Amino acid sequence: MISVIVPCYNEEKSIRNFHREITEVMKSQATYELVFVDDGSRDDTLKLLQEISYKDEAVRYLSFSRNFGKEAAMLAGLTYASGDAVIIMDADLQHPPSLIPEMIQRYYDGYDQVIAKRNRKGDALIRTGFSKLYYKLMNKMVDVKLVDGVGDFRLLSRRAVDALLAMNEYNRFSKGLFSWIGFDEYVIEYENVAREEGASKWSMPKLINYGIDGIISFNNKPLRLSIYFGLIITLLDLLYIFIIFLRILIYGVEVPGYFTIIASVMLLGGIQLIFLGVIGEYIGRIYYESKRRPHFIVKNTNIESAEAAANPVYIKQQSRV
Ligand code: UDP
Ligand code: MG
Repeated sequence: MISVIVPCYNEEKSIRNFHREITEVMKSQATYELVFVDDGSRDDTLKLLQEISYKDEAVRYLSFSRNFGKEAAMLAGLTYASGDAVIIMDADLQHPPSLIPEMIQRYYDGYDQVIAKRNRKGDALIRTGFSKLYYKLMNKMVDVKLVDGVGDFRLLSRRAVDALLAMNEYNRFSKGLFSWIGFDEYVIEYENVAREEGASKWSMPKLINYGIDGIISFNNKPLRLSIYFGLIITLLDLLYIFIIFLRILIYGVEVPGYFTIIASVMLLGGIQLIFLGVIGEYIGRIYYESKRRPHFIVKNTNIESAEAAANPVYIKQQSRV
């Protein structure tokens, strides 16, 4: 059995099309379930999902109490999917269902992760440029390998899913996690597809924040960097002090020094603030991890195993028994 996980946030315009196309493909492939995760949509996404689930018994849905983000939606899907393999894909048909037969074939060939990789055709040139630069930098900084164009569209074997679920961190950066768990990967390339309905939820500031998350989630190299930077500046400083001291010995004390003082105070101040920010970022993460809050709250579902999660009172009664 294969589970298809679909995070949906305000996708009322896409869901019907998506459901039709995915059903077309999956029917001929294997027994399957479709796990739709409604990430607190404000439109009629949930209503549509319920409607579809009455007609199609392969449809499972799970609805969050508010918008928790795509990472949480994927995690919920992975938690409640019961398939031997799982395919994660977007609701907006930017991940072509026509790739699925080959993905499943590769899974049968023994690959634990079958990754669909898009090219950047049709993307804005600046965005493409920034992305390329980002991945170059990123791969120097972090321990896991990240590839441009590789997103969340992929097939995961059961053991890969279990490995992902074993990582219970609050700040989830899936791109990194997928790479971190390892296993044999197979990459299928496909042509980029433009979104047909609705709008992308990614703005430039969101992308930049996501980029910073990526760097910080995976190691402490930015902190290491601050040590090296500090050391270099200290050495340069010592050299400068030595030179000035020699000058004083030779020429005596010169009073004018306004420029050097202001320049060094400003520069050092700036550098210190940057690295304070870096440290703060890590402490912030520790703060969030230490709260151990749930990644999402389920409000509504037709998945039996998730029903308890959708009803906190039920959980309480159970734990009392
Ligand atoms: N999504 C979600 N929660 C969010 C934002 C997005 O579940 O907070 C879903 C969205 O419904 C879609 C997928 O994640 O199925 C990808 O989102 P989008 O198409 O906006 O991103 P893009 O394709 O532009 O990267
Ligand atoms: Mg999209």
